[in-house]
Amino acid sequence: MSIKNVQISLDKNILEICWSDDHISRFHAKWIRFHCKCVRCKPTVTFDYKIDIPSFSPDLAYDEVKITDEGQKLRVTFEKELFQNHVTEHDSDWLRQKCYCDACLEDKVKARDVISKHLRKGKKKILPKVDYKEIVDNSDRGTFKWLKHVIEEGMCLIENVPREEKMIEEIGSKVATLEMTSYGPVWSVIDTGVDNAAYSTMGLPLHQDQPTYETAPGLQLLHTLRFDSAVTGGDSTLVDMFKAVEILRKESPEDFQTLVEVPATYCQIDHSPSSIEPTHLEHQKPHITLDYFGKVVGCVWHPGLQSALQVRERDVERYYKAHNKMMEIIRREKLQYKFKLSAGDLIIFNNRRMLHARDAYKSNGGVRHLRGAYLRLDDVKSKYLVLARKLGYDVIPPKVGNNSSM
Ligand SMILES: [Zn+2]
Ligand SMILES: [Zn+2]
Repeated sequence: MSIKNVQISLDKNILEICWSDDHISRFHAKWIRFHCKCVRCKPTVTFDYKIDIPSFSPDLAYDEVKITDEGQKLRVTFEKELFQNHVTEHDSDWLRQKCYCDACLEDKVKARDVISKHLRKGKKKILPKVDYKEIVDNSDRGTFKWLKHVIEEGMCLIENVPREEKMIEEIGSKVATLEMTSYGPVWSVIDTGVDNAAYSTMGLPLHQDQPTYETAPGLQLLHTLRFDSAVTGGDSTLVDMFKAVEILRKESPEDFQTLVEVPATYCQIDHSPSSIEPTHLEHQKPHITLDYFGKVVGCVWHPGLQSALQVRERDVERYYKAHNKMMEIIRREKLQYKFKLSAGDLIIFNNRRMLHARDAYKSNGGVRHLRGAYLRLDDVKSKYLVLARKLGYDVIPPKVGNNSSM
């Protein structure tokens, strides 16, 4: 995009750019100066910051602004400049891309919000699926395909995965190193009789894994090695918490605000001799995190791991009211994806976005054996963008639920 003309405000603090499509951008003097990319200003390595912002005058102002290269570049000098004979140069394309006018910011927020975009489509509740063969045939394309489903829809089922223990690591490590847990990078979900609901035949209500950590696991991968026909029950459910909180925001803005403000406490304390490693984890955080733009960028839900509420007296009643309303919404049947895993199925879902549940089951002499692993959400997003670039797809860095809008 080329620059048509420029104008400096009377106080010399704002540069107004009129573009060839008549869009108007306004940049502050400090913004233009502190993002200078000349060799004197731009760091060559991460630690080597060459501009010490506090050393600059707070009254830094525009001196002269010139359009060069037929509107493709801008050359700027400043009053109260720190460096001698310093000129800042910016490419017009970069400036237009980084325009922070209300309209441009709004567009960017919308584009990143793949979650809401997906929800707006009003799609039927269909579990997205990819066949394992697609990953074998073309590792990058196959991996990108399931990643796209997980990024946009929160989940994906990979079917016909060989029933071998190593497969979960083989598929997961195409994206990133598996996250380490106290059970190791890969664990088995099987009835072992130990004191943990996940390793029994009990039902597990809707929850996210490990909210006791500052950063709960990102993607959860569950590979079904055995689900014998003798086994009854054990069906799975997924609920999109991002959708649920938007329903809460619409139906009860007051309860929504309460869950943004009042934090719950999560706790996992285990000093018993049977524990793999004695653990003392506690974390306090609100159920919903909003970004600067008011968009939901994080959700936490696990009533089973909540410990004593530690908030001011005035917030106790409104907290329980909002919590009950949230619970009522996530239990709505129309929000639930219900399915039964078959041997060879590998279900992948975003643990920071989706709630998962399992019905109780009876073995009846059969075996239900899953292998589980996690991938960090930031790694997943990075791989998604790297693969998109490699494969020539034009994708916008999406919002994924890691408490960040970008
Ligand atoms: Zn510079
Ligand atoms: Zn703009």
